[in-house]
Amino acid sequence: MEKAQVAGELSGGRFAVLGMGGTIAGRAERAGDNVGYTAGQVRVEDLAAGLPALAGLALDFEQVAQINSKDMRLPELQCLVARVQAHLADDAVSAVIVTHGTDTIEETAWLLQTLLAPAKPVVLTCAMRPATAVSPDGPQNLSDAIAVAAHPGARGVVVVCAGRVHGAVEVAKVHPYRTDPFDSGDAGVIALVEEGRVRDLRPWPTQARHTDRVSAFLAASAMPRVAWLSSHADAGAWEVESLLGAPAARRVQGILVAATGNASLHADLEAALHKAEAAGVRVVLANRNGAPPVPYPAQPFADIDGLAPAKARWALALDLLGA
Ligand code: ASP
Repeated sequence: MEKAQVAGELSGGRFAVLGMGGTIAGRAERAGDNVGYTAGQVRVEDLAAGLPALAGLALDFEQVAQINSKDMRLPELQCLVARVQAHLADDAVSAVIVTHGTDTIEETAWLLQTLLAPAKPVVLTCAMRPATAVSPDGPQNLSDAIAVAAHPGARGVVVVCAGRVHGAVEVAKVHPYRTDPFDSGDAGVIALVEEGRVRDLRPWPTQARHTDRVSAFLAASAMPRVAWLSSHADAGAWEVESLLGAPAARRVQGILVAATGNASLHADLEAALHKAEAAGVRVVLANRNGAPPVPYPAQPFADIDGLAPAKARWALALDLLGA
């Protein structure tokens, strides 16, 4: 982790700008190539260089990691959570901005929200095109992220991309190529960024399920093992049976099952999951379509706050970490 500082005229406090890598920091061999590039190449302070929206602001840059977010591991997440926590505790810092890859940004955003529940804004941003693209989207997204960070009503962890502000709880990447690849489902976006101005649409995030687990998360050498299975046509018991048959040191403590439709599971898979539960494995479900289940009396297993699979898997792991 390295730090750089660009001091300028203060505008409501300092902003900490943390770099994690991703496509926003990606470089391609050919300028016209939007898909054949290497993520995590350009330093975070270089991404910000020359952007008019950042001129005159007091920015503290920190390169926390420099990776493709598909390869995110626990140590990088721990490092980010610790650094965001430290900046939030600094009275001189009014907001934290994080540049991050799009592939797992929804997991990182949710973790930061559930663990830290920040009253200050923590604004994650990204890009779908590398920094070397003919028309990169990163500079606009970073400029918009700064506008959100400076917005008086902003709080909690959000993802800013393509002029839209998504909440950490709802945001999901739903497209592999569009420069606006995120969706917030029925909840919709929290705000829009239009020409540097933020237009509020609904309340900012306050969710705080795991704030009592921060120390345990930061100290963990590994998270409790939670497998992510899915129900589907022709699903059966074999995956659950192999998990239960694993040697003790590799046994799972939890299973997150992505259900079809509204919390529905293939009968053969459901029967196997009940056996897993009887063997001491905690089973939780989420809808494979990402929408919160509509509760019904015979729902086979509980969901966690209606979370989509990627976030429910982390929620279960954090629940187990404190168990
Ligand atoms: N694979 C890249 C990443 O998540 C994708 C991106 O940033 O758009 O780091």
